[in-house]
Amino acid sequence: MSRTLSKSVNGRSRKPQSKENSRATRARSKISEPPPGVITAKRSSSAASSNTQTAKPKAQNSQLKTQYLIGQGFDSHRFAPQLDPTRPLRLGGVTFESERRLAGHSDGDVLLHAVCDALLGALGLGDIGQHFPPGDPRWRDADSQQFVRYALDLAGRQRARVSNLDATLIMESPRLGPLRERLCRSLAKLLNTPPDRISIKAKTPEGLGLPDSAIAQVVLLLERTEP
Ligand code: MG
Repeated sequence: MSRTLSKSVNGRSRKPQSKENSRATRARSKISEPPPGVITAKRSSSAASSNTQTAKPKAQNSQLKTQYLIGQGFDSHRFAPQLDPTRPLRLGGVTFESERRLAGHSDGDVLLHAVCDALLGALGLGDIGQHFPPGDPRWRDADSQQFVRYALDLAGRQRARVSNLDATLIMESPRLGPLRERLCRSLAKLLNTPPDRISIKAKTPEGLGLPDSAIAQVVLLLERTEP
């Protein structure tokens, strides 16, 4: 896992693509065309410059076109006993002390996997499994922050950034209430977004009979501004 995602992102060492991955690549190439359902808004910059006597008239009349892309992600992992101290419980990019960890090929970070899927979904680029096949030995025990950074890089290539994120974490334990602030700060830093644009709600799986599962749901908005 010493190979970094950025190498892979930049397309220099990417593996042969499957049919589904080819679809994702074609989708990336259509960055100038908003996907179906994109809401486009026009935001005038003239108001901001109206008090500037020296502003050029041309700049006063210029407009910024902003597109909003919504994405949602879902993931679930089961808890397993914490037997290996090098494979701790990871949530939202944060390591927590626990007698259990989330099972998975990577670090099992269910929240970041859902964030990654939401980013890819907003961009119309498939899901995390298409970009990071779970059987690929490169991603064994991988820090899932790499997956999110990869998706953010794809967003950046389309001049898009995260506007806000709303997540729901569902698990019996650990209790997430006391951990919420750490999770929000971690996600805000990872997504380069102000902490007040990050919301994490903690729920227990009451009535679902899933004491050994962790579930994450994420909705996020990307803001893409074009000159
Ligand atoms: Mg997962």
